[in-house]
Amino acid sequence: MVDIQKIFAEGVESSFLVEIGARTIIMFILILIILRLSGRRGVRQLTLFEVAIIISLGSAAGDPMFQEEIPIFHSIVVFICVIFVYKLVTWIASRSENIAHLLEGKVLPVVKDGVFDIKHENDNTFSRMEFFSELRNLNIEHLGQVKEGILEVDGTLSVLFYADSDVRYGLPLFPSSFKKVDVFSAEGPFACMYCGHVVFSFENDSKACPRCNKTQWSKALNSKRV
Ligand SMILES: [Zn+2]
Repeated sequence: MVDIQKIFAEGVESSFLVEIGARTIIMFILILIILRLSGRRGVRQLTLFEVAIIISLGSAAGDPMFQEEIPIFHSIVVFICVIFVYKLVTWIASRSENIAHLLEGKVLPVVKDGVFDIKHENDNTFSRMEFFSELRNLNIEHLGQVKEGILEVDGTLSVLFYADSDVRYGLPLFPSSFKKVDVFSAEGPFACMYCGHVVFSFENDSKACPRCNKTQWSKALNSKRV
């Protein structure tokens, strides 16, 4: 049997509860100061390097809030060391592009001239589904509206659009139009569901994509951005 009483309350000393309150307030203020000192404006998107920093700080920040035997001074020493390493590595990275790439990753071109950049198909650095959803979040109906799309190191997507007059046929991104069609009975143009390559009609029996060799096609769209 699971002993609920033991899990929740074994060893609770009421006198220590007040100390927990005080420790938590002190640690919380220290965390805010440390994050402010790190020089970051926001925490919406973190690079992998910054996530590593946050994880290192996590236990040093949280444990002393409720562990009687941990003096807060130890946490302060950890904070100082981590911030020192963070500043040092950031400084080194600012002087060497290679080290910066090693730490933060590189920007990744994902769309170029209305089609997926398939050079990176085996990188596994981004999931196709996630990427579709990111593009939809930017109100992009189909790839033919996108001149260039880049995945930034913090995981956000930056997109350059075609002018309305230059919008071309492209792969639909919303499920209502992203549907497999039979290229021999349906009306073209078609977009390769894998790489976004657009084909207007199929002359011979093969329906393999000339760009990526996959064989699933959706109807292409060329609607303008609204
Ligand atoms: Zn293709």
